[in-house]
Amino acid sequence: MSEYINKIKEIFSKKEIPPLCYLHSFGCQQNVSDGEKILGMLCGMGYGVTEDISAADLIIYNTCAVRENAELKVYSLIGNLKRLKENNPDLIIGICGCMAQEEKTVENIKKSYRHVDLIFGTFAVKELPRLLYEVLSERKRAVDISEYSGEISENISAYRTDSIKASVPIMYGCNNFCSYCIVPYVRGRERSRKPEAVLNEVRELAYAGYKEIMLLGQNVNSYGKNLDEPISFAELLREINKIEGDFKIRFMSSHPKDATGELIDAIAECDKVCKHMHLPLQSGSDRILAAMNRNYTVEKYMKIVDYARSVMPDFSFSTDIIVGFPNETYEDFRQTLEVIKRVRFDNIFSFIYSKRTGTKAAEIDDRTSGEDKSRWMRELLNVQRDITDNGFKRFVGRTLTVLFDSESKTEGYFSGKSDEFIIVEANADKNVIGQRKQVKITKAFNWALQGEIIG
Ligand code: SF4
Repeated sequence: MSEYINKIKEIFSKKEIPPLCYLHSFGCQQNVSDGEKILGMLCGMGYGVTEDISAADLIIYNTCAVRENAELKVYSLIGNLKRLKENNPDLIIGICGCMAQEEKTVENIKKSYRHVDLIFGTFAVKELPRLLYEVLSERKRAVDISEYSGEISENISAYRTDSIKASVPIMYGCNNFCSYCIVPYVRGRERSRKPEAVLNEVRELAYAGYKEIMLLGQNVNSYGKNLDEPISFAELLREINKIEGDFKIRFMSSHPKDATGELIDAIAECDKVCKHMHLPLQSGSDRILAAMNRNYTVEKYMKIVDYARSVMPDFSFSTDIIVGFPNETYEDFRQTLEVIKRVRFDNIFSFIYSKRTGTKAAEIDDRTSGEDKSRWMRELLNVQRDITDNGFKRFVGRTLTVLFDSESKTEGYFSGKSDEFIIVEANADKNVIGQRKQVKITKAFNWALQGEIIG
């Protein structure tokens, strides 16, 4: 890798002005994190980073394949770049990420989007210097969609745009093959980073003053199982918690099938770990969970929730729900509502099922009507609004720890997330951004809390 980085530096040393790159990442935090690594490599080659796409010498779209609609949007964005390329033939256009790992997509881009110079899949990120050198030196298209090698590159530093919160991937890939999800096909099997590599990165971030560190993986709960010296995610959390510094730890995503009592105990014991878990339920019907190949039942899910609340009564859960999985009935959906009412999630990310070609679920002959799915979704949103309304009221009069990170829409107010992952706003000046403060909650809305900073 360094051989090609040096060769590219050599090319750029002859330029009067350093070239600029623009990168946009779509989709999940894992993809955003990959994008930070790509930018880190490009900076190492001599590129400056710009947010102005028209000023860029290199444009990269780091794509997501989870939803077909998002893919269509990317095609339209790539199409729009044709005019920029006509005006500036030296412009280099690259596509990477999950879409670039799908053979049919790559064939389509090669055939119909001839202005794209660079295509590399999720396993070829470390090959970027070589590929880019080929494009720069030979002015020919470079493509690498090689299959999964299992190798993790540890020598790529991320270019981080956020100076308050940082994400640290702890593992890559997924072994679960949920029937609606394309991720295992484009990101390969689970492989964990060695604990020392994770701990070193967290140490550096803590030393640099980051206030929140998000540990990332498609299923962090199965972290470490396949390492030569296996270690559980709970053990990793305990080790990270020992690192000195004024930072808090979050993690996502968790798979309920691998969530354990040991993990809940570790969260309870570790003062730096936020008392919140995003635990995707997807459905409250065991029949639908089986069709989704989720490998847990509602009973197993509730065991974790009940145990967490028995140890930490105020523990906050958020979740994902898919409404209208193929052939879901109203009875299945009603069971989902039941679980939602029992758990009292502080936040739900709900989606109407959308078919993803290439997955098992896409082959099901779906007889549930679109009208039913939309009606159920409205019902779910109403139920959740009542739960959030009442749930948030429990915080009024109490003091929460909030990391402020932005200006609120309410004039004179700034907002951030509490340890429970709830938006909290308070009257303050802009120096509050980047600080963790104690906020006494005075008001609850159904989307956020409001309060006064008391320390
Ligand atoms: S756990 Fe399931 S939904 Fe999550 S990435 Fe893996 S296959 Fe997809």
